[in-house]
Amino acid sequence: MVEKLVPVLLHAEGNPVIKGILQNLEGGESVSDDDLAALIGVKVNTVRTELNELYANGIVSFEKRKIPNQKWYAYFWKLDQGNIAYLIRQRLKKVLELLQRRLDYETAHSFFVCPREGKRYTFEEAAESDFRCPSCGALLTSQDNSQVVERLRSEIYQLTQILESLPARGLR
Ligand SMILES: [Zn+2]
Repeated sequence: MVEKLVPVLLHAEGNPVIKGILQNLEGGESVSDDDLAALIGVKVNTVRTELNELYANGIVSFEKRKIPNQKWYAYFWKLDQGNIAYLIRQRLKKVLELLQRRLDYETAHSFFVCPREGKRYTFEEAAESDFRCPSCGALLTSQDNSQVVERLRSEIYQLTQILESLPARGLR
């Protein structure tokens, strides 16, 4: 789920490096940026750029570890599971609010449609123009929106299920 929802949160659905990072961290283990680069098959700088972006958005956290017998440190990254659950929860709540508002609108009105242009009007708007399209003058026909209502109800149901399945632990 992380692999699917985090790119949506970041508007980075098409980014293969972010996808690769999430795939390799999803098991919960810490992985160094060098190992991530090798696993994904890109340069370490490319991985670091995306890791910094994920870090800035609260998706990953890191730990500095000294490499035995070496002078330098390596950075080990892992998913910030608690914060991810919180971010996804916030986003889902917002989407659910919008869908609910849309559903309320669809169930509160009857609709008419212009057969020529497909433009949609509420009963009130249609009545005002004597059921002629205000744009082209064609006679408006009543529109059955039960499929739209059905689809909205189903989306709301599915998102509510996802919301309820998210772990409550670690929420801030
Ligand atoms: Zn029209």
